[in-house]
Amino acid sequence: MSNVFYRSRKPYPTAVSAGGVFIQDDQGRSYLDGSSGALVANVGHGRTEVAQAMAEQAARLAFVHGSQFSSDVLETYASRLTGFLNLPGYRFWAVSGGSEANESAIKLARQYHVERGEPGRFRVVTRVPSYHGASLGALAASGMGARREVYVPLMRPDAWPKLPKPDPSLSGEADAERLRALLEKVGPESVAAFMCEPVVGASDAALAPNAGYHARIAQICREYGVLFIADEVMAGMGRCGAPLSVRLHDPQVTPDLVVLGKGLAAGYAPLAGVMASAQVFDTVMNGSGAFKHGFTYAGHPVSVAAGLSVLDIVEREELVRAAQERGKQLLDGLRALQGRHPGVLEVRGHGLLLGVILGDPATGQPHATPGVAERVAAAARDAGLLTYPGSGALDGVRGDHLLLGPPLSITTGEVTLLLERLDTALERGL
Ligand code: PLP
Repeated sequence: MSNVFYRSRKPYPTAVSAGGVFIQDDQGRSYLDGSSGALVANVGHGRTEVAQAMAEQAARLAFVHGSQFSSDVLETYASRLTGFLNLPGYRFWAVSGGSEANESAIKLARQYHVERGEPGRFRVVTRVPSYHGASLGALAASGMGARREVYVPLMRPDAWPKLPKPDPSLSGEADAERLRALLEKVGPESVAAFMCEPVVGASDAALAPNAGYHARIAQICREYGVLFIADEVMAGMGRCGAPLSVRLHDPQVTPDLVVLGKGLAAGYAPLAGVMASAQVFDTVMNGSGAFKHGFTYAGHPVSVAAGLSVLDIVEREELVRAAQERGKQLLDGLRALQGRHPGVLEVRGHGLLLGVILGDPATGQPHATPGVAERVAAAARDAGLLTYPGSGALDGVRGDHLLLGPPLSITTGEVTLLLERLDTALERGL
């Protein structure tokens, strides 16, 4: 009997090693990692230089507590990261995972308003569907039925007004104006922040709004004194073919808080964080003088060393450009598969964050009963390909989909192999 508390009783293969875009199990099977785990392994598996950087850091300085010390590696990393992301003057708040990072962003937005004498701004507007994390605050912020319903009532339900998802039939500007209408409805003086995934991840398969959306959102937030939080945990760090996905169409956009995770240390260590504008940082520091929040492992030197080494690789191997190029190859290939499999209703996305929307070819609508994505994902696994399936008409807004997002270091030949294996999976699973 196993003593591990797994997420479910389904049998999991036992992974024993990984290199590049492949993971091997203890039965000698090899899987092409078409989803980088959960869109994490951006630089691929088995990079010894990252392992070495972590080992050296662990031997030199494994841990200091953030209330007692900074570390040279954290200072260096924060400076490099603001450069990579083109967020001059921003401050990096380092934590261990995306949920912690979003909790931090929400609390920072709340404290920012308290410092300004606006304690009544307790609401955070988010969208349906969305996923911001598993901790109770981040989950309350999320618009994702399956993960929320067991825990209802969530923390103060009226604190999380929900905006509908982006509507590609509207201009980006008209789409964003719906935020203004919502703010007017709930009372803008009660709202601390608006938070969204600029390119939606797991909850809506790489859905992105039209050009102009994020610029207008930023403008509306400014007008109403509401902070704009971009949750780039999945879509940021080059995955969508730009350092920040919020700037894909609107390069001038500068959110007040940018939340990062997953690709930061690319799975080599737990690392996430928040980039906070100088205005937010200064307001807190010139007010009560301290962010009233903290985690024991925040800014862990070994995780930060992993992040620094991963950033070296991303820059040296030009993986942001690679994400654009391999992403185009993969999207073209997916369109060809759509032509061959009528159960594929749509393919979409940016860079190497791509969604394959499954449904009933007769109606062009989601399948009446969810579960098709899991079936295709199981067929893909049998064919030696890992995908990230999402299923169910959650909140009545979507059906089955597969999210694809291989490491940004994937080669053209490996993209071709991925497409061949997905073709087999669609053949067997649909
Ligand atoms: N935000 C987004 C957009 C995510 O995709 C995720 C995870 O999938 C999270 C936050 C939560 O991150 P974590 O699972 O590291 O806590």
